[in-house]
Amino acid sequence: MAEVDLHTDRPHPARVYDYLLGGKDNFAADREAAQQGLRANPDSRIPPRENRLFLRRAVRFLAEQGIDQFLDIGTGIPSPPNVHHVAQEINPAARIVYVDNDPIVLVHARALLTSDPRGRTDYIDADLRDVDSILGSPVLRDTLDLNRPVGLLLIAILHFIGDDDDPGAIVERLLAGLPSGSYLALSHLTGDFRPEAWEKIAEVYRKQGVTMQVRSRPEVERFFAGLDVVDPGLQVLPAWRPDLGEPTVPPPSDAQVSVYGAVARKP
Ligand code: SAH
Repeated sequence: MAEVDLHTDRPHPARVYDYLLGGKDNFAADREAAQQGLRANPDSRIPPRENRLFLRRAVRFLAEQGIDQFLDIGTGIPSPPNVHHVAQEINPAARIVYVDNDPIVLVHARALLTSDPRGRTDYIDADLRDVDSILGSPVLRDTLDLNRPVGLLLIAILHFIGDDDDPGAIVERLLAGLPSGSYLALSHLTGDFRPEAWEKIAEVYRKQGVTMQVRSRPEVERFFAGLDVVDPGLQVLPAWRPDLGEPTVPPPSDAQVSVYGAVARKP
């Protein structure tokens, strides 16, 4: 394999996220950015944790609706249970294509390729903004049947896409490539509750050349245009189909979480 340049001198979202979750796949620049984030918002470890819990609940929900193929864009550094663990617990034949553009995720991709033999997982090194290369990828076409419904996961990724890159159009184009009955599960950071803290955090990233844009509730709702949003609609994560088995007692406040999420079906 060609040598991978991890750009360890700069913070990378996947590694900052890993650090905030208590992982070990991060470098000094990532930890420094995370510490600056923690100074701006001492609750910065809560959004990633709640986000992982939402990911699990959303995937379980989709698998229970009969969805057996998933396209997870912005996979992140593996943090078990990953999508295939959750989906294959319900349907061992489930197939998952993981996509990320960060070389560190590519380095760890082997941990994602541990499918149940009855199902299948694959990995594509690609950029969310390059929709054609994702949907047209031979790996994707080989693993997923695009004539049958797919669960599209855009979990905690769109806040790394600035308005310049028109994230709404990206979501639309991805969904246009998937059949009726497909689902979108999406989560997104918001500054609605603590605007100043999140502005500071976005600034930490911006200074290092990384785009981060938190969005308001109406801005996040717009990603679901034309879809049937399933109950209970767009929620701050812990309120989305809470699972009584989860360890968070008492649940964190909306301001501590600052991430919206919803699941919707393509009619
Ligand atoms: N979805 C995971 C990880 C979220 S962290 C979870 O919810 O736990 C965000 C991930 O999105 C990182 O791994 C980062 O590398 C990836 N990402 C950011 N911008 C991207 C882009 N333009 N294309 C592909 N992946 C991207």
